[in-house]
Amino acid sequence: MKRIVFLGSAGVGKGTYAQDISEHYKIPTVSTGHLLREEVESGSKEGKEAKKHMDKGELVPTNIITALLKKRLAKKDCKKGFILDGYPRSMEQARALDKITHIDVAVNFIAPLKVILSRLGGRRTCSKCGWIFHIKNIPPKKKGICDKCGGKLLIRKDDQPEAIKKRLDIYKKKVKPVLDYYKKRGVLKQVDATLDYSVGGEQIVDDTIKAIEG
Ligand code: AMP
Repeated sequence: MKRIVFLGSAGVGKGTYAQDISEHYKIPTVSTGHLLREEVESGSKEGKEAKKHMDKGELVPTNIITALLKKRLAKKDCKKGFILDGYPRSMEQARALDKITHIDVAVNFIAPLKVILSRLGGRRTCSKCGWIFHIKNIPPKKKGICDKCGGKLLIRKDDQPEAIKKRLDIYKKKVKPVLDYYKKRGVLKQVDATLDYSVGGEQIVDDTIKAIEG
């Protein structure tokens, strides 16, 4: 069973590595950011409420995101495990997660701030399937079009400079206790994700698998 949490600030590359590790273990990546963007698209009441926070780079209220997550983890494809990308982002969420499932390993991806800012600036996200590209490091075969599904690639609203700054500040404050929490439980692993995907991607995938297995 591989019930894995990926931690690390926005732009560290954890969504990209989640894609690769997911393929390796044949388990789904559950990205709470993607779940929320789908909910926004659906036009539901929760989606509308979530959008207000997301556009500003703030966290969506825990009850909204936790309910979506619980529903997603109950689906059949999560039976053999999953990679959770983007949750928990606070102690409140770490405790809520413990009520839904058991976490086997938490991988924390780290990289210097300068690297993170450059990655977020070049990120392009598929508006349809959520696949992540980067104009320099992971360019799509056809400009502006998703390799996977043909959807349109967009710059997320919260990848604009002001929202980026806010997201990084919130991350530092709220996720630190979550790291300590998993460390105390003996399930926290660190992976250095400083190298760009085009240069060090394979190495970082290997390191991540070792961290998960170790
Ligand atoms: P992400 O794609 O993980 O960067 O998430 C995009 C946005 O969705 C974040 O800036 C938050 O507004 C919201 N979001 C994603 N995951 C969570 C979460 N676990 N708790 C609260 N808000 C979240």
